[in-house]
Amino acid sequence: MLDIDLHCHSNVSDGILTPAKLISRAAQRGVEMLALTDHDDVAGLDEARSAAFEKNITFINGVEISVSWRNRTIHILGLNIDPDYQPLFDGLAAIRAGRAQRAQNIAVELEKAGIGGSLEGAYAYVGERGLIGRTHFARYLVEKGYAKDTKSVFKKYLVKGKPGYTHHEWAALSEAITWIAGSGGRAVIAHPARYNLGKNVLNDLLDEFSALGGCALEVISASHTAQQVEIFAAHAKSRNLFASCGSDFHGPGESFYDLGRLPELPSGCVPVWHDWNTFQNN
Ligand code: AMP
Ligand code: MN
Ligand code: MN
Ligand code: MN
Repeated sequence: MLDIDLHCHSNVSDGILTPAKLISRAAQRGVEMLALTDHDDVAGLDEARSAAFEKNITFINGVEISVSWRNRTIHILGLNIDPDYQPLFDGLAAIRAGRAQRAQNIAVELEKAGIGGSLEGAYAYVGERGLIGRTHFARYLVEKGYAKDTKSVFKKYLVKGKPGYTHHEWAALSEAITWIAGSGGRAVIAHPARYNLGKNVLNDLLDEFSALGGCALEVISASHTAQQVEIFAAHAKSRNLFASCGSDFHGPGESFYDLGRLPELPSGCVPVWHDWNTFQNN
């Protein structure tokens, strides 16, 4: 069985490692096929692809797009995309502009809660591309002793109902899927168990996702329990959706799963990579 990981982050978004260092780590751990899926940006793909070529890792162009759907945030992975496809490229740029604005709003909210300097503090953790997210705020708040780790910061400050949370409108589901599919890629619902959708809402999401051209579910994810893996494998099978697997690795010490060595897809799932020309670097 190939060691495959189709979801991870570099410091182009909210990961810790540079794209090249991420690939080195993947190689050390025996990963044979990897997709880099930074949030809302494809800027790390060239560096990662060259590094992967050196290490004989099959590299898949990826991205994780932030989407608003029925007042919730959903993440849609684009796998095997063409990063130069203009509508995708422009759409991602617009989402990133929204992130900068949201960061200012988050800082205002944190200020109201008595936490000053968070915008500058968060930006100190942001990579060269300037993409800012809640994780960068979380790292700053850990640095300042507001919580013991980033997970605790999220719980205390950065999620709905907490002082540093602000509503933000991301891309529409239809936009994200259209950009991905239009670029020749496959749209995948990332970590579907994480949204805690009730049965009916989940069915609505899956209906709409499929109707718009989405074609896969991330069945294996660090966010999923063994039971959730089985549940989403069953959804994938009954709806003829492909199945994907990814660690969602962000950095040593910050993630539940390290790169690769993931559990196998349950039997009967059709892997999202089943017809990709593996062991060929593009
Ligand atoms: P953003 O896209 O800026 O809203 O940030 C979302 C990112 O925050 C996710 O991709 C995770 O990396 C991180 N994140 C979200 N929830 C948590 C949590 N409960 N604990 C730790 N990190 C989280
Ligand atoms: Mn993240
Ligand atoms: Mn995600
Ligand atoms: Mn992710």
